[in-house]
Amino acid sequence: MDRQEINRKQKQFIFPAVATYFRDPLPLERGEMQYIWDVEGKRYLDFFGGIVTVGVGHANPRVTGPMKAQIDKLQHTSTLYPNETAVALAEKIAQITPGRLEKSFFTSSGSEANETAIDTARQHTGNLEILALRHAYSGRSSMTRALTGISSWRKVSYQIGIVHAMNPYCYRCPLGKTYPSCDVACAQDIEAVIQSSTSGSIAGMIAEPIQGVGGFITPPKEYFKLAFNIVKQYGGDFIADEVQTGWGRTGKTWFGIEHWEVEPDILTAAKSLANGHPIGLTVATPEVADAYKGPTIATFGGNPVTCVAAKAVIDLIEEDDLRTNCAVVGAYLRERLLELQQKYPIIGDVRGMGLMQALELVKDPKTKEPAPEATAALLEAARENGLLIGKGGMYNNVLRLSPPMNIAKSDVDEAFRLLDKTFATVTANLH
Ligand code: PLP
Repeated sequence: MDRQEINRKQKQFIFPAVATYFRDPLPLERGEMQYIWDVEGKRYLDFFGGIVTVGVGHANPRVTGPMKAQIDKLQHTSTLYPNETAVALAEKIAQITPGRLEKSFFTSSGSEANETAIDTARQHTGNLEILALRHAYSGRSSMTRALTGISSWRKVSYQIGIVHAMNPYCYRCPLGKTYPSCDVACAQDIEAVIQSSTSGSIAGMIAEPIQGVGGFITPPKEYFKLAFNIVKQYGGDFIADEVQTGWGRTGKTWFGIEHWEVEPDILTAAKSLANGHPIGLTVATPEVADAYKGPTIATFGGNPVTCVAAKAVIDLIEEDDLRTNCAVVGAYLRERLLELQQKYPIIGDVRGMGLMQALELVKDPKTKEPAPEATAALLEAARENGLLIGKGGMYNNVLRLSPPMNIAKSDVDEAFRLLDKTFATVTANLH
């Protein structure tokens, strides 16, 4: 099928609510490491990695090889039958996750992973209420939409017992303060919300170490310890949603939350864990996991092919020291983005960690008025120039860069050249 036919059939046969990028959506055909090709054979440098998902590159043979072998051996079992691939993966996860996160539950998506985490915290603590952060994105199921703190992603969601606190958004501080003289006052909002809007005993708090869909909002280094201590004071479990930040992307550590030196009671992951193959992970400390009341089942949870893929991904990250690569190449990417900021005043903020970096775009750096139209135009122009990047943020004015974790500095140089060209064309047309 050619591009027009695919897009026509998409309109005719797929739910129209399904979000696609670009005025004329882009059907993709094949990928190879950091590159991806559309159905017309045009090549793109992929600096979004299928929404922070293809962490070790498209069709990486070190992942697809073991998967192909597994598919011919045992393709599916369900959680009713233990299998070697799932327990080997769970054992590896227990070794690399922070603190005492030791027991895993596998599902098929980040939404299910977060649903499971909330159920687990509620059963463990005996409490109902959950605290989430504004600008969070937690998934597309009914409960995870209610946890989400961006109204456009919350359509038709209603859940009781979920409250939202201010997020640590330094560039647009909800309290109008400036870091570090603010003393991270936003963290105190967690306590204020618990005291004002819950019964006073909570099941837990769920937070992304760096808010992904929210626009790579990166809290100050004190934030999560303060948050964790408040959550504990009110009887809750701390849940780190590492769906975007997990597996080394933030540099040096396996998980984002480790940069804040917090040991969560529950951690969730998905996306890049199996390099794009559907998987959801909820991992908890033994006492928290043991409190989950059964019986329960996940038909696709622990699928052998997916578990083999996930184990291969983790082994590859370890063998190639991709956590260091994310720190080193990520720092270089940050430098080059700061260079762009010097050149283009539309770039109000550069933020993120490791190979998870974002540009927040504003009409005027003084007023910080969001520039969503320019952001959309930049996304389109980048595509024309052969570069795929992501978009996000509460105000639709953030460009997100999350390339595969095994890119080199030369890939950053190529992305920089394409971004420079993109900004030059689009900003010239703004005036
Ligand atoms: N949590 C975070 C931080 C996410 O970014 C996402 C998806 O973007 C989810 C949860 C939901 O994951 P999924 O789309 O696999 O259900």
